[in-house]
Amino acid sequence: LLLAYDPVRRLARLQVGLERSLVNARMIYEILDIEPQQGDAPGAPELKVDKGEVRFERVSFSYAPDLPVLNEISFVAAAGKTTAIVGASGAGKSTITALLEGFYDVDSGSISIDGQDISKVTKASLRNAIAYVSQQPYLFEGTIADNIRYGRESANDGEIRQAADLAAADQFIGQQPQGYDTLVGENGVTLSGGQRQRISIARAIVRQAPILLLDEATSALDNESEARVQEALATVMEGRTTIVIAHRLSTVVNADHIIVLEEGRLVEEGTHDALITNPHGVYARFHRLQSGKGLGLVDDTKQMEPP
Ligand code: ADP
Ligand code: MG
Repeated sequence: LLLAYDPVRRLARLQVGLERSLVNARMIYEILDIEPQQGDAPGAPELKVDKGEVRFERVSFSYAPDLPVLNEISFVAAAGKTTAIVGASGAGKSTITALLEGFYDVDSGSISIDGQDISKVTKASLRNAIAYVSQQPYLFEGTIADNIRYGRESANDGEIRQAADLAAADQFIGQQPQGYDTLVGENGVTLSGGQRQRISIARAIVRQAPILLLDEATSALDNESEARVQEALATVMEGRTTIVIAHRLSTVVNADHIIVLEEGRLVEEGTHDALITNPHGVYARFHRLQSGKGLGLVDDTKQMEPP
């Protein structure tokens, strides 16, 4: 299917302001599917995803010389399971996901998916294996259907409706003046944060990628939207290898595996139950701080970003 707008015009008409260049790069590479060909070694093979196991092995990385951001990070995100990353702002959580998507090369160590070093495979095949749901969902000028189809341009109308349904977006889309053909963006209807988020989740579902990267929202959604978004996310996480930058206590507690980052180092990992048995641990301290406060956003601690 042909898209209504060329990528550059779509970029220029972005509805949502973008905070950081990283988000910007992700938008270009993942949503618009521009091929970063120059990043591929000649004759590089395609990534073949079987189970979807992600492995970081002693990964070190810095954006600028002498400013290490990640220091010998090793962990496995098991196939089909949910791995939560927790840590204070600036600890390196987003950088881990950016490296996995191949936006930057590691300085040392390696990242592999099902045993294949991601630096050796084509960027396009790596990107195709990954769906990313950001905490600031972006919508483009165009129809609601277009906005879901950006996940996979070959998706047909039935697949788009099914994805919207799974993302709990079908109902509010039906209430829009032209349903799926309703324009969003500058000249179209305004959607709430929760509605935008559910469209972005539908986009991730339609992508059919085996690996899901999820940057959880910290706030911005009212309680009802929040519950619906959570439900939608549970659907897209099912059977996928999910790495979630976790802000909600419930996500962390329910994750199959938790890794705790502090200043670019992995300081603890394990299940919630295992981690809270170490009373002096970073995670246990974090949990004690948070659990008394429900699931609301806590901004009076610098120890941990979530929830
Ligand atoms: P987190 O997601 O845990 O808040 P990040 O991975 O975003 O942490 O950032 C880790 C460190 O890397 C921070 O010190 C941040 O300022 C720095 N950083 C993040 N992105 C960039 C970038 N594009 N260029 C330079 N430094 C960056
Ligand atoms: Mg971050």
